Amino acid sequence: MTVERNTDDEPIIAPAHPSTMQNSVLKEYASNIESGQPIAAIVPDRVFRNEDLDARHEHTFYQVEGIYVAKGVQAGMLIATLQEFLQEYYGRRLEVRVNPFYFPFTEPSFEFALSCPFCSQAGCNVCSYEGWIELLGCGMIHPKVLEAADIDPAVYTGFAFGCGIDRLVMMKESIEDVRHFQSGKLDFLRQF
Ligand SMILES: [Zn+2]
Repeated sequence: MTVERNTDDEPIIAPAHPSTMQNSVLKEYASNIESGQPIAAIVPDRVFRNEDLDARHEHTFYQVEGIYVAKGVQAGMLIATLQEFLQEYYGRRLEVRVNPFYFPFTEPSFEFALSCPFCSQAGCNVCSYEGWIELLGCGMIHPKVLEAADIDPAVYTGFAFGCGIDRLVMMKESIEDVRHFQSGKLDFLRQF
């Protein structure tokens, strides 16, 4: 098997999600928070999965990882930040639902759902007639992740979220099949 290498001759792999960037970003900017500046980063990336393909699953798509670290960061700030962004993006007031979940890089972790922007919770085919759409994973950055970047988790806390960009766009533009994005069909692309 041939292993692809970057310009520093290090082996590279196709990433399945951008969460691994947390460590690089936190290490790079760890000195900032000591001078009172928060670490705030958005990391969009192309990601790759070994999937059975259908209208909702594609082998190649985009995700965005967001992180925020400072003194006194709490889960309420995470939820308010996401709700504010999604309301701006969809142009209407949205209810959010947060359930406990498991992700390895955050503790506690949450699955974040929003009230369906298309049917006001009456039910439609976008939300599978449930009125809610499970949109992304998020949580408070695990203390071990902060420690790995030499950030003291007793002093600083932070939140992180990971969200599929394609899914946000699909919902906003009523695109019914994720495979259109990689299809190279000009009829599809020229609509935007
Ligand atoms: Zn709906």
